[in-house]
Amino acid sequence: MFAHSKFHCLLLSLLLIAPTAPGAASGAGSAEPADLWRREHRLIDLHQHVGCTTQHLARAVRIMDAVGLGLVVNLSGGFVTPARDGGPSEFERNKTLADTLHPGRFLHYMSLDYSGWDDPGFSERAVEQIETGHRLGAAGLKEYKRLGLYLRDKAGNLIRPDDPKLDPVWKRCGDLGLPVSIHVADPKAFWLPYNERNERWKELKDHKSWWFGDTNKFPPWKDLLESLNRVIERHPKTTFVCVHFANNAEELEWVDAALDRHPNMMADLAARIPEIGRHDPRRVRRLFLKHQDRILFGTDFQVYNRLILGSSGNEPPPTDADAELFFAKHWRWLETRDRDWAHMTPIQGDWTISSIGLPPEVLRKIYFDNARKLLVRSLPPPTLRARRISQDLPLGQPVRNSLWELAEPVRIEQRATDGEVNPALGTSVRALWSERYLYLAFE
Ligand SMILES: [Zn+2]
Repeated sequence: MFAHSKFHCLLLSLLLIAPTAPGAASGAGSAEPADLWRREHRLIDLHQHVGCTTQHLARAVRIMDAVGLGLVVNLSGGFVTPARDGGPSEFERNKTLADTLHPGRFLHYMSLDYSGWDDPGFSERAVEQIETGHRLGAAGLKEYKRLGLYLRDKAGNLIRPDDPKLDPVWKRCGDLGLPVSIHVADPKAFWLPYNERNERWKELKDHKSWWFGDTNKFPPWKDLLESLNRVIERHPKTTFVCVHFANNAEELEWVDAALDRHPNMMADLAARIPEIGRHDPRRVRRLFLKHQDRILFGTDFQVYNRLILGSSGNEPPPTDADAELFFAKHWRWLETRDRDWAHMTPIQGDWTISSIGLPPEVLRKIYFDNARKLLVRSLPPPTLRARRISQDLPLGQPVRNSLWELAEPVRIEQRATDGEVNPALGTSVRALWSERYLYLAFE
């Protein structure tokens, strides 16, 4: 017990029920304690695309609640360029609606408006966009696979990821602590002949614009990855979350070496468990254990007029129940050791995957701790509410008083300064107050 301003803080020990870590139960449907654990820990999906309308947001939240996601990063926050009539930008409209209807459930990334690319001063104006986004509450910058594949200058040349005109943008993101989620390239099969023997034919036949096999129009697959690596190397103070398992789920050694070489690089899992899960699960597991601080949970789940479960074609639209199964298969892959089962995005290919059964202390990093650290600038600190009591508690001795049950416990395990999460040093705190004292209790 010690005095602190006009309050006395009473330090005492309380027995609180520790959350159950997810078990390695086999099968998607049999892991009830794990379902509770996920729900309680409010998982973070770092990679979704949600249309910011009342209906789409409500549908997204219903599914989040059903599967145990606390927070979604909506990468499709949009441009911060003011509207033509001078009104709020697309980004502001999207963020305001989501924050008003569902406070605390979404963070939004901005993306860069490339109009005026060929005009003098583009880089300066692009940096201003980043500064505006930062001021408006963008949690990060999203770059789609436009670079090197779709975006062209006035002369018709593709704009490469490592174009020097973009360097000031990447640098400013680092200065401001805005992480960059960046997509370059795509599965290798998108560069192979366009016919029914292509292993991604089911997708390609419905999306001709995803095929990059025309060497007159598109650079080779590996050039794009190397171009991005040069950017990551030039900007060591900027964090790059390379989406879709570092844009190269097909080459685990490449991902391993790239993560080793670039401490400012991370990888999300979005829409690539069907690819990653094809490899020998023991090798994948070793890679996940080695880079457990650099891998982030993300799905590429999309909520627009139809749901998209990682990818889609012209098949009938998925239902909410299909979406729940899609998430359940993610848990099954990460948490169990099941072998050779049908993956979550059948259109991505006719093969089976094998689970990697990660231990609980690694799962929590991938599900939320790594994201909490990455997003610390944008996440609200935990709020502890002190409940009023009308009588004082005896001081200076361990107290087991039913009054404590009034106080909602708040788990604190993250450093506010840099977002570092240390569960072993974490504690649950409760607070009560009376006319004379503020009482704090922790485990
Ligand atoms: Zn995406």
